[in-house]
Amino acid sequence: MACPNVSLSRLLLPGATSHSFIPRCLRSTATVSLRKLTVSACLSDMNPSSPTETTSPKAYRWKPMCLYFTQGKCTKMDDAIHLEKFNHNYLVDLHRIASEPSNIRPQEIDYLLVLDLEGKVEILEFPVVMIDTKTMDFVDSFHRFVRPTGMSEQRVAHYIEGKYGNMGVDRVWHDTAIPFKEVLEEFEKWMCSHQLWKKEAGGSLNQAAFVTCGNWDLKTKVPQQCQVSKIRTPPYFMEWINLKDIYLNFYNRRATGMMPMMRQLGLSSLGSHHLGIDDTKNIARVCQRLLADGALLQITARRSSSNPSNVQFMFVNRIV
Ligand SMILES: [Zn+2]
Repeated sequence: MACPNVSLSRLLLPGATSHSFIPRCLRSTATVSLRKLTVSACLSDMNPSSPTETTSPKAYRWKPMCLYFTQGKCTKMDDAIHLEKFNHNYLVDLHRIASEPSNIRPQEIDYLLVLDLEGKVEILEFPVVMIDTKTMDFVDSFHRFVRPTGMSEQRVAHYIEGKYGNMGVDRVWHDTAIPFKEVLEEFEKWMCSHQLWKKEAGGSLNQAAFVTCGNWDLKTKVPQQCQVSKIRTPPYFMEWINLKDIYLNFYNRRATGMMPMMRQLGLSSLGSHHLGIDDTKNIARVCQRLLADGALLQITARRSSSNPSNVQFMFVNRIV
């Protein structure tokens, strides 16, 4: 089925309401700003039984996630106008996908922690989506904006304007970002709540693995950020699944990134590309498809315990 491109342009009026919350979701500039959201929509990829789609699929209208909600900080869950503007349910985008039962294969790892960091100089966003490999279902998420600690405030402001300004989410970033060290402390509590990791036990994850699109996130960026943040790289970042390796070796097709993978699989790209939480959800949807098609999601890269800077790659056939 052809996937028509649907452009959803929304006129946002920062400060145009006395509502104390809505403007914080929007871009705060002196002039009217336009948050343009492009959804390459494929109707066959939308689940008419999902919570917001009680009518026909044609009535489906994609909404951006509330970025306060994703961080556990939305205080307007009873505000109808706010709920109408922003999505507060991950299942709308990460609904169960159709699969042929005969394709499903047993997995060695119970839970995938899909992670797609944002920020080149320092990490600016740490979004994780948890998927159950047996059911292929979304389980939970962890999302925080990250405040750099090795840069001047002026440089941070410039950095955020360039990175998030044109998506209209720089205001929420400034409202909520916390230092990387605190993000990891909260992330560890979140992992403990799901029995994925125990502080006392140290070591690696319990029946779970990170999934990234490429090796950059965990091979390069996290250790760099840990150095800047003056902390040791935590032991749960010692191994991961590079989705590109799994994709290449399962489908025998080259895909150099998330967007080519989605195009090849006929999946619609939802949200703003390079907004970490939206990219993470899209990568999670690629994972759901791989699971449904019968791919084994296994560790593709592991650090040497004697020399953590030495990374061993499990697949010979890789995109380097
Ligand atoms: Zn909200």
